[in-house]
Amino acid sequence: MNKAVIRKYIILIGALLYSLAVSAQSTSELATDKPKPGEGLYSFLIRHKLSPQEHQQAFIDLNKGKFGKNNSLLAHHAYLIPSATIELHEPLFGKERAFFPLESNELKGTAFYLVAGHGGPDPGAIGQYGNHELHEDEYAYDITLRLAKKLMENGSKVHLIIQDEDDGIRDEQILKYDNHETCGSETIPLDQNQRLKQRTREVNKLYKKDSEAYRRCIIIHLDSRSKRRQIDVFFYHHKNSSGGKNLAYQLRDTFDEKYKQHQPSRGFSGTVSTRNLYLLRHTTPSSVFIELGNIQNYRDQQRFVIADNRQALANWLYEGIKKDFERNNKK
Ligand SMILES: [Zn+2]
Repeated sequence: MNKAVIRKYIILIGALLYSLAVSAQSTSELATDKPKPGEGLYSFLIRHKLSPQEHQQAFIDLNKGKFGKNNSLLAHHAYLIPSATIELHEPLFGKERAFFPLESNELKGTAFYLVAGHGGPDPGAIGQYGNHELHEDEYAYDITLRLAKKLMENGSKVHLIIQDEDDGIRDEQILKYDNHETCGSETIPLDQNQRLKQRTREVNKLYKKDSEAYRRCIIIHLDSRSKRRQIDVFFYHHKNSSGGKNLAYQLRDTFDEKYKQHQPSRGFSGTVSTRNLYLLRHTTPSSVFIELGNIQNYRDQQRFVIADNRQALANWLYEGIKKDFERNNKK
């Protein structure tokens, strides 16, 4: 069996175990209710805020043997009401986080192409942290996964362009590095130009198949500057992309707000600027390229080695994106 097939089986088995776990989760936790006089299945579901289309089958399975002809409800029965939670699944988030509930539909109608910087044979910048090496690609990937999860939890479609089958979201300070990340299912080549072309191709291919009204490509780097300087967060867009520009400013303003709230003495100086980068130039969706900090700077390293900080960065990115989407919707 090749890798893809094996992975599919693992997903299937995972889903099966999960559904077993859910059904074993004792039906005693579910609410029950009796039908009102004359109430049919359809009205009963609606009254309990369930969509007949989505939940009718689950309702029938859950209450086997309690129906009259044509699944009519019987007045003397108290029916179990299935939970309306929708479960999502993304094995790339790692074993413990692969299954998670949909929390809102705030971002319904959006699609994202998330590109974690570097990967494969290219570790990006390398910071020295005590006896450890911090590889940019691993930290960029972890933050990208965390952002992906936030987006999916709120109704977005997300494409992870760079993938690592066995990393998942990690809570360690020192993220172990490897070089087997892939672009989609393809090996990442060594040559820098080939590498950029490959991920651009992948974004554009997926973009073409999607039809969401709001689609954005987000490229996440940490990036290294001079060793002594603590740098802030940089947001780049292509000069001709108004979508990219709007999103970049929205993200910058969100970070500004958050830093004022959490580290008022620090003084945040995130900037938005245009940059003629290959991915910004060639990806079809509006794109933003982000540099989150300097992995070679001791103070910036704190931003990345602490998992809660990586999560905070992902949350802030999410909030900025949400604002941009909402603003876009108002127009
Ligand atoms: Zn980089």
